[in-house]
Amino acid sequence: MPNQDPIRPRQFAQRLERWSRDIDRPLPWRGERDPYRIWLSEILLQQTRAASGIPYYLRFLEAFPTVHHLSQAPLDQVLKLWEGLGYYNRAQNLHKTATIVSQQLEGRFPDTYEGLLQLPGIGPYTAAAIASFAFGKRHAVLDGNVIRVLSRLTGMTAPVDLPESRHRLQSMADRLLGNHDPATFNQAIMDFGALQCIPRNPDCGECPFAGDCQAYLSGTVDQLPLKKKKAPVRHRYFTFFVVVHRGSTFLIQRDQDDIWRQLFTFPSAESSSREEMNDPERWARTIHAWNPQESRVDMRPLSVHTQLLSHQRIHAQFVLVLPEQELEIPDHWVPVHGANFTTFALPKIIREFLSSDSSYLPVERTSS
Ligand code: SF4
Repeated sequence: MPNQDPIRPRQFAQRLERWSRDIDRPLPWRGERDPYRIWLSEILLQQTRAASGIPYYLRFLEAFPTVHHLSQAPLDQVLKLWEGLGYYNRAQNLHKTATIVSQQLEGRFPDTYEGLLQLPGIGPYTAAAIASFAFGKRHAVLDGNVIRVLSRLTGMTAPVDLPESRHRLQSMADRLLGNHDPATFNQAIMDFGALQCIPRNPDCGECPFAGDCQAYLSGTVDQLPLKKKKAPVRHRYFTFFVVVHRGSTFLIQRDQDDIWRQLFTFPSAESSSREEMNDPERWARTIHAWNPQESRVDMRPLSVHTQLLSHQRIHAQFVLVLPEQELEIPDHWVPVHGANFTTFALPKIIREFLSSDSSYLPVERTSS
């Protein structure tokens, strides 16, 4: 197959190396060779930009200095530390992988790309990063930054999230890596995407590849990389019931295979429309299902919050429920005394609600 790359691997690597000598990008995992730390940083960086990921990385390392510590921690503690990153199934995979490495692999991560791919939550990018940074294996990384660089260099007009585009970009990254040191090359090309070939208004005039870059030469830099059209956003409507009874409020741990799995929320009901979400008669029916003795309750609407997830927009109406008589609390409800929610892993929308208005929550009494 003819080589269609706009630049020869040797030239590319030389110019990239020259460019990377001048950059200053202090990151705590930079130059790291410990596979546990590399893996942790890569999983956290799937969720957030490098600057926002640093505090999470440091907090995780402090709580779990080794993979054994992480595997022995309760999942709730991991979810609590993960709070704010979203995609909580990734935190669950983090915990699963730690358990496998600690208990089945004597604490040692596999030292091959293929072996790493067998672990939960480790895909081609993360496997290439760990294999190259920790074990010096010759695998080119293809993260969002590298995809942007290569798609612009080649002027790729197909959506980069198609499997054939990924395959083409991976082959190109592997050719450009060639015989160069994989850890140095991978770090440099990721830095290049993060600092030079940035999503908006890159400084192409100062770029060492400007003369070869098809996007720059054709004036299409701002249009690339192309992505497939996104699936339409699904709107979901939840009513959360803030039941205040005998100095406590109550949370449930969500166990359905759905958003917020394993996280804690107020008891809730999902509706198919905003009108249903706001309908006091529906609230009463839901409360009746929990409260068959029909104790009298007072219901008051509180605030409404929204949150955009990757393909879903969540609308949440919070409702204060004040029983006027003794209420039988379902067994699976977890009482929270006072307003002490700090030990529970909560979805963002619940935390936003709590920080916006908690004046109606019971105050923990301290003995004088
Ligand atoms: S010329 Fe511009 S678009 Fe092309 S690689 Fe350089 S920074 Fe990126």
